[in-house]
Amino acid sequence: MTDSTQMQAASNGLILVIEDDAQIRRFLRATLNSHGYRVIEVTGGKEGLKELGLHHPDLIILDLGLPDVDGVDLTRQIREWSSTPIIIVSAREREHDKVTALDAGADDYLTKPFGTQELLARIRVAMRHAVRAIQGDDNPIFSVGSLVVDLARRQVTVDGESVHLTPIEYKLLTTLVRYAGKVVTGRQLLKEVWGPSYTNESQYLRLYMAKLRHKLEKDPTDPRYLLTEPGVGYRLAEE
Ligand code: CA
Repeated sequence: MTDSTQMQAASNGLILVIEDDAQIRRFLRATLNSHGYRVIEVTGGKEGLKELGLHHPDLIILDLGLPDVDGVDLTRQIREWSSTPIIIVSAREREHDKVTALDAGADDYLTKPFGTQELLARIRVAMRHAVRAIQGDDNPIFSVGSLVVDLARRQVTVDGESVHLTPIEYKLLTTLVRYAGKVVTGRQLLKEVWGPSYTNESQYLRLYMAKLRHKLEKDPTDPRYLLTEPGVGYRLAEE
């Protein structure tokens, strides 16, 4: 392995890749290096934990199907002492594990096979959120396309027109704004909007998401902002 760690003068950050598939590691290394990220690669979870403690990377890319440790358990172990953003990489047949890993504290996911642009976008969003979590976000206005959410004035507009939202609709929208660009599981949304005893009431979420789309989207059946992540949850578009 060449020592790109030393060569790169300006770096976008250090990424720890925990993945046993050599082909995917090769793709990740080439893509990340060429976009200014430094990379540490390991093939198993135990080694991953060791490198995490040693190097304090800015982000972790974690394969759920590792030979030595279960990826979901590893996510829980990491979250006991580290808030480093984790992007899960999963095969399609591990759909359920993906949701469990997100609920255990992973930040986002990629389903194999994934493309370069998707990978880079997920990394940018996760890193931005990590910085905001530390420094705080004093920008009270969120906007994407023609949708503007003014958190200080509790005002929502589309194309400059004020939109009236009920308290629950507003809470659901502002929760999504807090995680803008990142996937949020249905369970997480239910917990944050309705409370911990409502985490299985997914029909509430579907109903209120439909109401929000009806009020905010030009075409509620083909949403531009309030995106569905099939089998996982929702994502508010950030760009
Ligand atoms: Ca694997």
